[in-house]
Amino acid sequence: MEPQARETLLRMLPSIPEKLKKNVPEKFEKIGDILIIHVPPSLQAWREEIGQAFKEVFQVKTVLMKGKIRGEFRIPQCILLAGSDTSTIHKENGIFYAVDLSKVMFSTGNIHERIRMSQFPHHETVIDMFAGIGYFTLPIAKFCTSTVFAIEKNWDAFYYLCRNIMLNKVETLVIPYLMDCRDFDGTADRVIMGHPQAYRFLDIAFSLVHEGFIHYHEFVPETRMERPTNRLVTAAEKAGKSITITHSRKIKKFSPGVWHMVYDVQIF
Ligand code: SAM
Repeated sequence: MEPQARETLLRMLPSIPEKLKKNVPEKFEKIGDILIIHVPPSLQAWREEIGQAFKEVFQVKTVLMKGKIRGEFRIPQCILLAGSDTSTIHKENGIFYAVDLSKVMFSTGNIHERIRMSQFPHHETVIDMFAGIGYFTLPIAKFCTSTVFAIEKNWDAFYYLCRNIMLNKVETLVIPYLMDCRDFDGTADRVIMGHPQAYRFLDIAFSLVHEGFIHYHEFVPETRMERPTNRLVTAAEKAGKSITITHSRKIKKFSPGVWHMVYDVQIF
């Protein structure tokens, strides 16, 4: 945040005791015209006031407080601080993402992975096993003109996936499925597994690619960095396939000592 914006913001919060003002958030995430801030426990009594000040200073329609993202469907637990509308359209790397932040997640921290996906080879067949609102599906379809089977189990995320397919004019390339990816039958050159519990679905992923790539995500504790490789090797052996891990990367820190990692796995 620019020093001048912070000064204005703090001036708009006269009821917060001087000694606590240093705890007013300095960072925020902007998704479309919505801000997401983290208000620390010491400032909870003033959280609506802080939200209102952020709303005015940064000229956005809504300010939300970040909560945990929970469960199989990765649903965010957001608290509304200012404004009322939690739906927005976020533009990133030439793609439009319509999203309701009270119903489905959008992780700005995964931007480099979304850009990387847009640089894959062209005209492939791709299966996105956990498509969400189209985080990976849309850049792959738009920039690689690949055919993407986008599978999503949660109705709210599926609704936005369909909206985003139309918004980005990739109707002829993306085939959305409202279903559990365990029940999907097909084959692809590339399978995307963008879910922290993707390891539970490795048997399915290996059945979907005969030769090609799996992009496998896992939240990995720093003390157990060998775990994903072990899981991948075990799953490949069970499927009777040979693999090479051609690339691995830290996407972002998930929690203290735990990394969100991605592994590119080539299957022979
Ligand atoms: N890849 C996204 C990103 O970069 O932010 C994250 C997608 S989110 C973590 C995972 C999505 O998978 C959620 O929308 C959830 O509803 C969906 N999902 C979870 N289990 C599923 C299953 N068995 N079949 C299909 N979709 C599933």
